[in-house]
Amino acid sequence: MAWDALPLVDVVDERPAIERRAVVRDGFYETQARTMIEKVPVTSAVAERWAVSPYRGCAHACRGCVARRGHRSLGWDTGRDFDTRIVVKANAGSRLRDELARWPGEPLAIGVAGDCYQQAEATYRLMPALVTALAEAGVPFTVYTKSPLVLRDAGLLAAARAPVAVSIAFVDEKIRRVVEPGAPTAQRRLELVAALREAGVDCQVLMSPVLPLLSDAADQLAATVRRIAAAGASGVRPVVLRLPYGTRQWYLSWLEQAHAGLVERYAELYDAAGLPAPGYEERITGQIEQLARAYGMRCGAAPSPARRTPRADQLTLV
Ligand code: SF4
Repeated sequence: MAWDALPLVDVVDERPAIERRAVVRDGFYETQARTMIEKVPVTSAVAERWAVSPYRGCAHACRGCVARRGHRSLGWDTGRDFDTRIVVKANAGSRLRDELARWPGEPLAIGVAGDCYQQAEATYRLMPALVTALAEAGVPFTVYTKSPLVLRDAGLLAAARAPVAVSIAFVDEKIRRVVEPGAPTAQRRLELVAALREAGVDCQVLMSPVLPLLSDAADQLAATVRRIAAAGASGVRPVVLRLPYGTRQWYLSWLEQAHAGLVERYAELYDAAGLPAPGYEERITGQIEQLARAYGMRCGAAPSPARRTPRADQLTLV
């Protein structure tokens, strides 16, 4: 190499590692995942201890999303970056298949670090391979989503006997527009619950997150549970908003602008880990339990599905 071809100063690429590693296509950050099965953070709303997420970040942009912290470890911020920089695990299907070969069978939550049926899934179609791999391995799993795109895979999910948990925390569209600006309306999600049931998929509703002092009035809870029951959900599980690191900053910055008078009351209600006062949480959960009972709906975590015979074994028996 000629001396004059060498740079005069070292050029240091200071971008976060994910940006150097990923292939950016149409605004999505395509990566090759090293691990698909990850531990669920304790502040998460899901009942499972382990999760599989084909996407990190989520265009649904929910203010109170507890997955926000994950973007910090990528070198991005937990606010707007989480909503707009979506990481796609392009090798999700093959990687998960390898891990399932050694997985003891504990149930998995699908779609925790970002909604697994958000808009990116319309482009990448990662979920059919994941559902097929899980069904063939006989590992029980629950899909968590707010997106009607899940209906595309209803046949696969019904065949796998995999429940879907649709999040609907309130039915007030004015609240939805500001705290879940990228998510489908509650009405569309209620229609999704009915459509999934019709397609033979067990569908429960995660009433998460109930927002203290914003969506927790008795009439708001009653209207929400009534419509969830009318949509045909098999059960409802209430979860009060959690504010772990990352979520707390993003949610409270909005609260300060939109409802400054509530900031102090939130400070009294939440501990340093971002968990709501137990007395408050019990009161809200108790109210929702009573309402669910009145509508003949199960309330609380659905019983864990049992491990199923792997499909490959079934085939060899035939
Ligand atoms: S849909 Fe779920 S993963 Fe996506 S931002 Fe909302 S809470 Fe987070």
